[in-house]
Amino acid sequence: MSYQKIDTALIHGGISTDERTGAVNVPIYQTSTFKQDGLGKMRGYEYSRTGNPTREALEALIAELEGGYAGFAFASGLAAETAVLSLLKTGDRVLISSNVYGGTFRLLNQVFDHFGINYTISETDDPEAFEKDITDDVKAVLIESPANPLMTITDIRAVAEIAHRHGLLVIVDNTFMTPYLQRPLELGADIVVHSATKYLGGHSDVVAGLAVVKTKELAERIAFIQNSTGGVLPPFDSFLLIRGIKTLGVRLDRHVSNAEKAAKFLLDHKAVKSVHYPGLESDKGYEVNKRQARNGGVMISFELEDNYDIKVFFESLELITLAESLGGVESLVCHPSSMTHASIPEEIRKKVGITDGLIRLSIGIEDIDDILADLDKAIRLSEVR
Ligand SMILES: *Cc1c(COP(=O)(O)O)cnc(C)c1O
Repeated sequence: MSYQKIDTALIHGGISTDERTGAVNVPIYQTSTFKQDGLGKMRGYEYSRTGNPTREALEALIAELEGGYAGFAFASGLAAETAVLSLLKTGDRVLISSNVYGGTFRLLNQVFDHFGINYTISETDDPEAFEKDITDDVKAVLIESPANPLMTITDIRAVAEIAHRHGLLVIVDNTFMTPYLQRPLELGADIVVHSATKYLGGHSDVVAGLAVVKTKELAERIAFIQNSTGGVLPPFDSFLLIRGIKTLGVRLDRHVSNAEKAAKFLLDHKAVKSVHYPGLESDKGYEVNKRQARNGGVMISFELEDNYDIKVFFESLELITLAESLGGVESLVCHPSSMTHASIPEEIRKKVGITDGLIRLSIGIEDIDDILADLDKAIRLSEVR
């Protein structure tokens, strides 16, 4: 099929139709196993952990969107990260961006540490500081940009260049941007991981993870790990993701235009002490982000001035829902220090700047006037007199 643009690839990319029947959508192949026509005579599939046509369609789609050699679908973002980190061996160390997703930190801090795989928190937003953290045992770097919840921007190209000079594997968690806004493999990354639960799914109705690798060699190793550890995405959930991805472009265009307005609204609000949004010119990461991503994305975090009670703020919101997660069509709000980042010990949270007053917003695609009115009302009601 001939096309140039990602908006078309979102709909027609990968394996987008059913060759055999002409079905316009890839069917849900809800089967665990496949008939073999004789010993060793398979029709391309044998068992659905190893391969399933619906999952394969999704895997081909995400590989094309990220510009990688192959894609892999997992039961969650953390299952995808678990598979990718399983490339490491006892004694290896991975550098992680400071303020990565809390679950990523917990996975390394409380699971992989059992296997003698170590991590160091690195300020990847400062390439020189990052290079100083590379010791002999460091074999990989895991970058989030923007990193959650302070929306810290890492210069992916600069860090990948340094990392490769030292022989490290470069892994980027692209959950917050998606390939519609940022393509880390083109910036030098070796592997991209996603919590597809977020923007790729887009409707807060499926938990899923994806990984995309740049080379055939990595593809073979991840395929082996995926089949051996078994955290695969079921056919129905694969179908839901393909369906979600078709509208990624139109959803994100609205998400981002709403987020830009919300960030400006917060920046100008007298009750707001700080705003973190890489789409604001005043933001520390603005210039670097502009070079490597289409725009500032959707996620915003902010702090209210000290004379506002954030408990009252959260309870006063009506339209914007207090919930973990992000990336759905509905606006969500969360309190990182007690929710998404609670699994990070308090002293580390303090050190990386995740204060108890920090509020994280995932702006949905509702009418922006209604979103701003809800924010404004909750801020007003939370003022301590
Ligand atoms: C949610 C999230 C994850 C974990 O994904 P799950 O699908 O919840 O397992 C990883 N990284 C980031 C940036 C996330 O937001």
